[in-house]
Amino acid sequence: MALINEHYMKLPNNYLFSDIAKKINSFKVTHPKEKIIRLGIGDVTQPLPAAVREAMHKAVDDMGSKETFHGYGPEQGYSFLIDAIIKNDYASRGITLEPGEVFVSDGAKSDTGNIGDILRHDNSIGVTDPVYPVYIDSNVMSGRAGILENGKWSDVVYIPCTEENHFIPDLPSRRVDILYLCYPNNPTGTTLTKEELKKWVNYALANDVLIMYDAAYEAYIQDPAIPHSIYEIKGAKKVAIEFRSFSKTAGFTGIRCGYTVVPKELNGFTLDGQRVQLNKLWNRRQSTKFNGTSYITQRGAEAVYSPEGKAQVKEIINYYMTNARIMKEGLLECGLHIYGGDNAPYLWIKTPHGLSSWKFFKKLLYEVNIVGTPGVGFGPSGEGYLRLTAFGDREDTLEAMTRLKKWLL
Ligand code: PLP
Repeated sequence: MALINEHYMKLPNNYLFSDIAKKINSFKVTHPKEKIIRLGIGDVTQPLPAAVREAMHKAVDDMGSKETFHGYGPEQGYSFLIDAIIKNDYASRGITLEPGEVFVSDGAKSDTGNIGDILRHDNSIGVTDPVYPVYIDSNVMSGRAGILENGKWSDVVYIPCTEENHFIPDLPSRRVDILYLCYPNNPTGTTLTKEELKKWVNYALANDVLIMYDAAYEAYIQDPAIPHSIYEIKGAKKVAIEFRSFSKTAGFTGIRCGYTVVPKELNGFTLDGQRVQLNKLWNRRQSTKFNGTSYITQRGAEAVYSPEGKAQVKEIINYYMTNARIMKEGLLECGLHIYGGDNAPYLWIKTPHGLSSWKFFKKLLYEVNIVGTPGVGFGPSGEGYLRLTAFGDREDTLEAMTRLKKWLL
């Protein structure tokens, strides 16, 4: 008889996107002629950069000849990609990393979800709220979250990020062992300055807290003063793991590639207080449960760092960030309270007249045929907000703003 991991049974079904789909479908039945504009999507829409496509074509050809064929690769990633990552994403910002500290993977979702494998089940967890749901759900699966009561997990420390605190999280009131930070933030689109991030690194250093730093959207940072990596802060290598992704940077949501940095200076503890390098544990975990990202994919990711790749990626990011600017200006003109959108592809709207997230979602759908994502779907502090993304087509983005202005002005 196989006994199951009963923690899985505590997880409610993820209703958010299926509820949204149901509401759109019932709208379509009653309004078949209306053109819906979807600004709720968290997926990119622009095609893969040419430099990446060319590198992948060449890599396919490599696989076709005996001399250049690649079978199983290193589980941690090929050195051609790791070297390019270290040189371009870290050395360029004055951060020194060894190749053995970078682990290439099939994306940040897997890594942020799997990292808990190397940590005890009874660590306490802290998250900023609202939050990318994977952090909490993966901890529910391993029994770290407790039980769900009134929309909150009993053993999770929620650190609210709302209009009231300008989306800058306060240090938690209760002790946490592991803390998730995501900047630029999904869903609020807000960022932390170097000073604010320093506050968290110093807190972690003083209290032996492990920070999981998700920088999946760092490529969207426009303001040169905002840190791209937590390792820009002194001492961070002693307290933080950093997750990165090629998904939103270079259109890899369907290709799948990301990487995780686990510095060798970073330690966890055994119950009797012995220090253990987390790098060694993650290396062991990956070598056992992961067989490497495909050679073709890694050649594609390497091309993101070529001069052509860099220029093409910049153009795509500019496209989305121009959408974000158009949206922000349009929404502000409509008198709405808007956050994010300056250094991230997400805009976080305070619902007008104190409407709930879902009521505002429905009004947008029925009155102007625009789809967003109700903020409450990202956590209790998301109630009263709605997320729009800048990943749509320019034409749709412009049309959406015209509709909103007609509606609200
Ligand atoms: N981290 C955050 C904050 C995200 O929003 C997403 C995707 O939406 C991911 C990670 C997943 O990235 P990947 O496509 O690399 O798995």
